[in-house]
Amino acid sequence: MKILLIEDDMDLGNGIRIALTDQGMDVTWVRQLADAQRQLEQRGFDLLLLDLGLPDGNGMDLVASLRRGREGVPILILSARDALSDRLLGLDSGADDYLVKPFELAELLSRVRALARRSYGFDGETMELRGIVLHVPTRRVTVNGRPADLTGSEYELLRILMMRADRVVTRRSLEEQALPGSQANASNSLDVHMANLRRKVGEGLIRTVRGVGYVIDQREVGR
Ligand code: CA
Repeated sequence: MKILLIEDDMDLGNGIRIALTDQGMDVTWVRQLADAQRQLEQRGFDLLLLDLGLPDGNGMDLVASLRRGREGVPILILSARDALSDRLLGLDSGADDYLVKPFELAELLSRVRALARRSYGFDGETMELRGIVLHVPTRRVTVNGRPADLTGSEYELLRILMMRADRVVTRRSLEEQALPGSQANASNSLDVHMANLRRKVGEGLIRTVRGVGYVIDQREVGR
C-alpha cells in the first residue's frame, strides 16, 4: 500500500515511517504542503496521513483541494487537539478519519488498516480474490495455492488492479504507478508486462477495457 505521510515533526514522522514500513507499506514522507502537492501530481497513493499544522500552511487546504478535484484517496488526519477543534469538528472537511495527538503507533496502524478495509475491502496486509492471494508485507503472490514468481512491475500491476477491483484502471495510471520512468516511455512496455503477468496469474483474471485500461472483476464475468 502506498502511503503519503505529511508531517513536519521529525521524531513523529520518522516513527510513523518506520512503523508503517515494517508492515510492508511503501511510505513517502514529506514535511511541507508544497512537497505533498508535488508528490500527488507525480504518483498515485492509496492513503494519505496528514498533519494539519505545517510550515507552509494548513493541511485542511490540501483536503479541500483534493476533494474539489474529486480525488477519492482516503485521508487520515493527525492533529493536536486544539487544531482539531478549530478546524475539524464540523467534519465537513472531506477527511475520512482523524487521530488526536499524541497517539500510540499501534493505534495508528489499526486506524490505517480500518480505513484501507473500508476504502478497498482489505486490511493492508492480505488481498484475496478469485484464487489469487497477495500478501503485502512479503510481496508474495499465490495462484490457487501455488507461488507465482512475479517481477517488481508485474507485482505492482497486480496489486493496483486488485486494490481497485471492479473499477477500471487507466493505462496511464498503471504506467505511472507501476513502471519506472524509463520503462513507461516505451509505448508497448505496459502491454509486455501485462502479457507476462496474465501468463502467470491466468489469462481470464485481468479484463481489457478497450481504449481505456484494465480491470479485475471480483467475480468472473458471465458466471
Ligand atoms: Ca505539525
